Amino acid sequence: MYSKLDNKGNIITGTTAILIVSLLLIFIFVINAINNVENDNIESIENDNFKYIINDYNKNLEEIGRNSIAEETEKLYHGHIIHDSRKDIKKILNNKLKDVNKEYKEKYGVEIRSEVVSVESTDSPWKVLFKVHIRADKDNNQYDGILQRNSSIEGLKDPLPFAMLSAYSNIDYDDTTIHYFQSLSQYLLVNNVNSYESYILATAPMIIKKCPYDPYIHHGDGDTMKDCLKNGYFHESADGSCYLCRLDGDAVCPHYGMEVFIQPHTPLTNGSVSCSDHVVFHDHYEGEKLNKLDINSLILDSSHAKKYGLDYDDGQ
Ligand SMILES: [Zn+2]
Ligand SMILES: [Zn+2]
Repeated sequence: MYSKLDNKGNIITGTTAILIVSLLLIFIFVINAINNVENDNIESIENDNFKYIINDYNKNLEEIGRNSIAEETEKLYHGHIIHDSRKDIKKILNNKLKDVNKEYKEKYGVEIRSEVVSVESTDSPWKVLFKVHIRADKDNNQYDGILQRNSSIEGLKDPLPFAMLSAYSNIDYDDTTIHYFQSLSQYLLVNNVNSYESYILATAPMIIKKCPYDPYIHHGDGDTMKDCLKNGYFHESADGSCYLCRLDGDAVCPHYGMEVFIQPHTPLTNGSVSCSDHVVFHDHYEGEKLNKLDINSLILDSSHAKKYGLDYDDGQ
């Protein structure tokens, strides 16, 4: 009797599995189809020269989009506050494209009208998606469609520190590093975080660089963590925020995001807020120094320590 039930169970499990796999395949197919729509559209252009021009324009969106994001980030680094980064970047990109359209008119004799449709977070924290509606006319050729292009945010400055601490003046940076001086501890004090003094003189990486030590649990191997901190790598994190939401001053968001370690430099040994940036700027839960004797030790909660394969060492 039990085996009968088991068989039935197996059949149901098997059918469910097949159903889930089929649904997944259909989903992937649909997503691919959506992503390829515009390419197909370009591909259907018959005139090779005209097709080349549209493809070239689409390719250039990658860099022009990225430059538009960088320009928006610079605003934060120069003391401005951002309310809606997507709207601002749209505006910056629209202006840049006006110049590009003039260039294309002179270079290729093509008339282009463009309007940025959207600036979007993607399922990768390292990429931002641009959608631009263009109408291009040359001789008897016409293209009317939405171009889509991903831009990488690697190599850009992290917007979050300046978005969060705009009210504090004593924060600075050099080519690679954010120096928090007193600003972060003051911010933590205002937010009622215990042992906020631990973050006096804390530092963090400024330039977004994707950590190559994936899976992250290997950070506990040999000098991996030391090297990660030295290079200032950022990590994928469902809990951290994406680049566009960082611009708006959100340390957590609904998109797949990233996290970076804010490194204390303190002789204090008591626990304080865990040093992953989304915890420091939003979640505010506690962590302990990984190594109490090391003034440069990270302060981490146990789940982050586990994610990165790190152990607590009390110098015993
Ligand atoms: Zn790393
Ligand atoms: Zn987001």
